[in-house]
Amino acid sequence: MTNKTQISAISAKKFSQQVLSWYHEQGRKHLPWQQNKTPYRVWISEIMLQQTQVATVIPYYLRFMESFPSILDLANASEDNVLHHWTGLGYYARARNLHKSAKIMAKQYQGKFPENIDDVIALPGIGRSTAGAILSLSLHQTHPILDGNVKRVLARCYLVEGHNAQAKFEKALWPIANKLTPNKDVASYNQAMMDLGAMVCTRSKPNCQECPINDDCLAFKLSEQANFPQKKPKKVTPAKSTIMIIPKINNQLFMTKRPPSGIWGGLYSFIEVDNEKEINSALSQYGLSELNSTALRPFRHTFSHFHLDITPLLIECELHSINSVNETPQTLWYKLGDSNSVGLAASSCKIIEEIHELNNLIT
Ligand code: SF4
Repeated sequence: MTNKTQISAISAKKFSQQVLSWYHEQGRKHLPWQQNKTPYRVWISEIMLQQTQVATVIPYYLRFMESFPSILDLANASEDNVLHHWTGLGYYARARNLHKSAKIMAKQYQGKFPENIDDVIALPGIGRSTAGAILSLSLHQTHPILDGNVKRVLARCYLVEGHNAQAKFEKALWPIANKLTPNKDVASYNQAMMDLGAMVCTRSKPNCQECPINDDCLAFKLSEQANFPQKKPKKVTPAKSTIMIIPKINNQLFMTKRPPSGIWGGLYSFIEVDNEKEINSALSQYGLSELNSTALRPFRHTFSHFHLDITPLLIECELHSINSVNETPQTLWYKLGDSNSVGLAASSCKIIEEIHELNNLIT
């Protein structure tokens, strides 16, 4: 394992020069968030790109920027509308934190993005690496970054032991990232390191022959690429099950809003019960009673820490009395075929898709 004392200023300079020349020839420069770079635009992209591939992010990013072109537009939007723009991207805490941070910037920074790294790190959902990326890419401030791609490159190059979930792994990498980050052309360098990890030093089968730093890379020299970073020990992921009931009247599906934190926090979802005996009382709580039901395809949704086996049940309902279910901020009659500007849980999107398919078969 290498620490910063083993990287001389000369080798750090050589490293950054090689990375930069590669970037100027082969790095990505045409992504939407690389045009008209501002801290706001880079921030949104960095948050969307966490745990999500570039190709998936692009259409979400374009829609988001069209609806919320500035920090104030985002701060003034409703949470439902922000979550609606995030529907399908997953990890919804990211969207809620973006919204919270925009409100803080509106209140404390006159709608401007703070330029001091400690102020940026103090915002919800922004860690040291993301703050460094935003300020270096958009304002050319010198800060090292350490996202998953950069960690992989450095861990291999300097044989740093450990895996991404370990604090000691990150702690060992920061001084290396710091030492290697140049003062000049830092925006290109940080972008280059992310690109190198994503395009060349990939998790499996890195393209070492084409890598600009292969003559210094210890993992390459020792054929140890597959062992760095180490793999996180596998845990058996537990499975839970639930019945999701989908009350339907005419063309509308009844949904409730989930609590603000926890899984699918703040998103609309169908009512869940543990067993079929609970269905009637769950419906009656909302003034609904069952006319008939259709079982939809069961499916599994996987969260980071458990699997959820979902059995969806479409239930044609009637109201106990006229207006017995009024729409409140916590409930929603989702109109099939309309654009409903709310955030939906991934499971709800899947179920709605199947109901559309069923309707198409019938009509
Ligand atoms: S030589 Fe191979 S393992 Fe080393 S940094 Fe380059 S791509 Fe990664």
